Amino acid sequence: MTTNGFAEYIWLDGTEPTQQLRSKARFVALPDAPAANDFPGWGFDGSSTGQAAGDDSDCLLEPVHIAHDPRRGKGNYLVLCEVLNADGTPHCTNHRAELRRTLDTAGAGAQPWAGFEQEYTLYHAGRPLGFPADGYPAPQGPYYCSVGATTAFGRELADAHARACLEAGLSIYGINAEVMPGQWEFQIGYRGIDREPVDVLTMSDQLWLARFLLMHEAERFGWAVSFDNKPMAGDWNGAGMHTNFSTAQTRDRDGGQDALKSAIAALSRRHEDHIARYGAGLADRLTGLHETCRIDEFRSGIADRGASIRIPASVAVKGHGYLEDRRPGANADPYQVATCLVETVCIGRKTEHLLSERATAAE
Ligand code: ADP
Ligand code: MN
Ligand code: MN
Ligand code: MN
Repeated sequence: MTTNGFAEYIWLDGTEPTQQLRSKARFVALPDAPAANDFPGWGFDGSSTGQAAGDDSDCLLEPVHIAHDPRRGKGNYLVLCEVLNADGTPHCTNHRAELRRTLDTAGAGAQPWAGFEQEYTLYHAGRPLGFPADGYPAPQGPYYCSVGATTAFGRELADAHARACLEAGLSIYGINAEVMPGQWEFQIGYRGIDREPVDVLTMSDQLWLARFLLMHEAERFGWAVSFDNKPMAGDWNGAGMHTNFSTAQTRDRDGGQDALKSAIAALSRRHEDHIARYGAGLADRLTGLHETCRIDEFRSGIADRGASIRIPASVAVKGHGYLEDRRPGANADPYQVATCLVETVCIGRKTEHLLSERATAAE
């Protein structure tokens, strides 16, 4: 049986330094319960997205991850795509392909999982919600996880977005009002449900789809969504994309504690490389204030919100589980953050292990 529907093809463009979402829709004839590869490939004008020159402008869209389209309703889909060159090779802006390669190298046994906490700021008429046109609201303190019209600004959208994510079938874990007025957070990741996919590739795809849904819902309110790292200078919190990360080894009841320790040691050695890929303008946010660690320092700690890497208290008590990388900015690309983590924690450790074996053999 085939059914007809509309499909919103979604991809990442070539905007620098932060890639933006683009999309366009088309009619599709589909089998029941379609998979990503039931959707036809498509193309677009790369000269209008910073991805090609005008005289050779065709870029290809390869469907890789689908979800239900909560706005158009049943039988309609969101189709996240990778961008390919005309010859079928990954476009240089396609960091998903890089993550796929990294995961192949890490091997099936690594089983890296991710949970992303996406903070964002809502704007109306050029000011964050809750900020008067002139001047400033009362200092931070009452806004985080607040309720009430004088402290929580934009809940209609945060809620509409959560509902859209649920209807789309994304692994949304929760939402909360943040420390700065007009700032909110949603999480995509592990929800403790058996057999629900939580691998870093799926979660990264879903984070991009959830960002798309957020911006789309915001259109109806006439509000702008900002993923800026530090929307307001001064004594106002920035916005991050804390990345919770675990592997088969860190989740292991017996070896988990040691695996977490060596993961953190490996991350400390690559701090600068990772900062370079964790979002544009990170220096404005990672100041050492407002629950961050300075950009030029690497520190880890249990329950420490001023550290680069935090071990949640519950994980420390259990002795195994996940770590929280608090460095990525709200504008970070989850594909690139996941690539850094997998490379360093799953592959770097393998290499280091081989090197130390070789050194021992040579002694
Ligand atoms: P915070 O206390 O830092 O605000 P949140 O409650 O916002 O934390 O988010 C916790 C995140 O941790 C969620 O995105 C969840 O999916 C993720 N998470 C929980 N367990 C794991 C795990 N074993 N591996 C990876 N991520 C995990
Ligand atoms: Mn959180
Ligand atoms: Mn937060
Ligand atoms: Mn967090």
